[in-house]
Amino acid sequence: MLAQSNNGILFVLSAPSGAGKTTIALKVLEKIEALERSVSHTTRPMRDGEVDGIDYHFIGIDNFHKMVDEGRFLEWAKVHGYYYGTLIQTIEKSFSQGMNVMLVIDTQGAATIREKKVANTSIFLLPPSIEELEERLRGRKNNTEDEIRIRLAKAASEIAQKDNYDYQVVNDIIDNAVMEVCQIINGERGKGKL
Ligand code: ADP
Ligand code: 5GP
Repeated sequence: MLAQSNNGILFVLSAPSGAGKTTIALKVLEKIEALERSVSHTTRPMRDGEVDGIDYHFIGIDNFHKMVDEGRFLEWAKVHGYYYGTLIQTIEKSFSQGMNVMLVIDTQGAATIREKKVANTSIFLLPPSIEELEERLRGRKNNTEDEIRIRLAKAASEIAQKDNYDYQVVNDIIDNAVMEVCQIINGERGKGKL
């Protein structure tokens, strides 16, 4: 279990695939000091342009299951056919270095963190509409038609979980959404923590 004696804040950002969480997270991380993204472990194959250790730690399925058995993940989930997980050690290391941490994870992972009663501030990013979500998924050009269909079908059940999050932010105009997320983070930091 994550040691809660330290001073760092754990931020959890979730959204349906294509809503813009990667885009927003990158911009927020540029703007906020002492905040870093936890690099997850995944069994998904590396995409063009991705770097091992930067985008994800890319590992084999046996290794992933071994790490699950060893209790090393704060949370893990199977998303779109592959396993993803957040190491406890990664977060503890950031906290020990005086950093706050942002997890960009799916709704299952966020639910696990909530169930484990790990202190965190959670943000759900919403697309302005399902039509716009579909456009963004198509515009990104890294999913097949089948994958887009599956992601859209999942989006409704993910959006239904939005009220389980501390904050909801609509990602309509990028800069506005970035500003809102930054305000949430700065507000939490102002509550006497880092
Ligand atoms: P996610 O990480 O949630 O799957 P991405 O960050 O990859 O989503 O964004 C999906 C696509 O939508 C990308 O092509 C991105 O450039 C675009 N996008 C993100 N935010 C906006 C926005 N506010 N307006 C228009 N396009 C956006
Ligand atoms: P992608 O493979 O497109 O980068 O991510 C697919 C999905 O997995 C996204 O919803 C992303 O947020 C989620 N994800 C990435 N890392 C983790 C993680 O460590 N845990 C969980 N639960 N989901 C993750």
